[in-house]
Amino acid sequence: RRILITGATGFIGRRLTSALTEAGHEVVALMRDPATANLPAPIMIVTALDQISGDTRIDAVINLAGEPISDGLWTLAKRRRILRSRLRTTREVRRLIARLQRRPEVLVSGSAIGWYGLHADAPLDETGSYIPCFSHRLCHAWEQAALRTETLGVRVVTVRIGLVLGSAGGMLSRLLTPFEFGLGGPMGSGRQWMSWISLDDCVRLILHAVADRRLNGPMNATAPCPVTSAEFSRALGSALRRPALLAAPAAPLRFAFGAFADELLLGGQRVLPAKALATGFRFRHPDVETAFHEIVGAPPAP
Ligand code: NDP
Repeated sequence: RRILITGATGFIGRRLTSALTEAGHEVVALMRDPATANLPAPIMIVTALDQISGDTRIDAVINLAGEPISDGLWTLAKRRRILRSRLRTTREVRRLIARLQRRPEVLVSGSAIGWYGLHADAPLDETGSYIPCFSHRLCHAWEQAALRTETLGVRVVTVRIGLVLGSAGGMLSRLLTPFEFGLGGPMGSGRQWMSWISLDDCVRLILHAVADRRLNGPMNATAPCPVTSAEFSRALGSALRRPALLAAPAAPLRFAFGAFADELLLGGQRVLPAKALATGFRFRHPDVETAFHEIVGAPPAP
């Protein structure tokens, strides 16, 4: 099968591209600067979707591109870039699909658990409601732009991705340094929920959404065992054989990250992957101990 990916050079896209080429699929990747991409596998590269002609066969599209969310303050200009980059790419994907003589069977498009906004302890499956905030507005607009492609007869799955844990990038790589020095700890109160997924399972779940025709609409991409921030820190400290001693207090996090800290570090949501489980997806890393064991190498605590 031939699969078009936007965001192929990113933390998730890079692993996804390797998984697809290893499985014998052809990958066409949209990227802004091929010179700096340094992808591990041989793939076809385009720098704009209008370089793809209408008679090209594309079987599936995976759309992940967008301005990085977790670096830098969420200033007004940054929020605009975060939103506009995702909407622009997703609309271009729809325009391309409309032009193709033979349309792909499926579009799997990015979103995040930020769709739900900040919740206390209530478990949230895909039928869960939202609390208004910037993350919700962003994810909602991104999902709606993708779901418009359904009118072209294409199945659309929007993956509400949780905090992706992998060794080479993402949030965990930033948390590892303080933890290795024994300085890591829960953020804020430690009671907020963290809905995470291993990079490996995230990639496998995106491929499951491509393959399983029963799936459409929003699908949570999180492990079945979310944890509180305190439990997360304890498990990470134990995998690294370092105690999680110091809590990171809320005020400096807010000062450093602004609204991003409020919505993504200090707040949280307890998300459950109901659709993934209902369609028979088996997680390789269902709990944080198993995930940390694979990522940082220590055995799970007894
Ligand atoms: P990355 O930030 O690692 O990669 C995103 C990709 O988007 C890059 O490869 C880049 O491709 C492209 N990109 C960056 N800035 C822009 C821009 N201004 N305009 C157009 N394209 C741009 O993201 P991840 O791989 O971590 O995540 C993939 C998607 O999943 C993202 O949209 C992210 O928001 C979402 N997500 C990720 C989570 C995580 O924990 N990692 C959690 C929840 C959601 P290039 O430079 O080649 O053009």
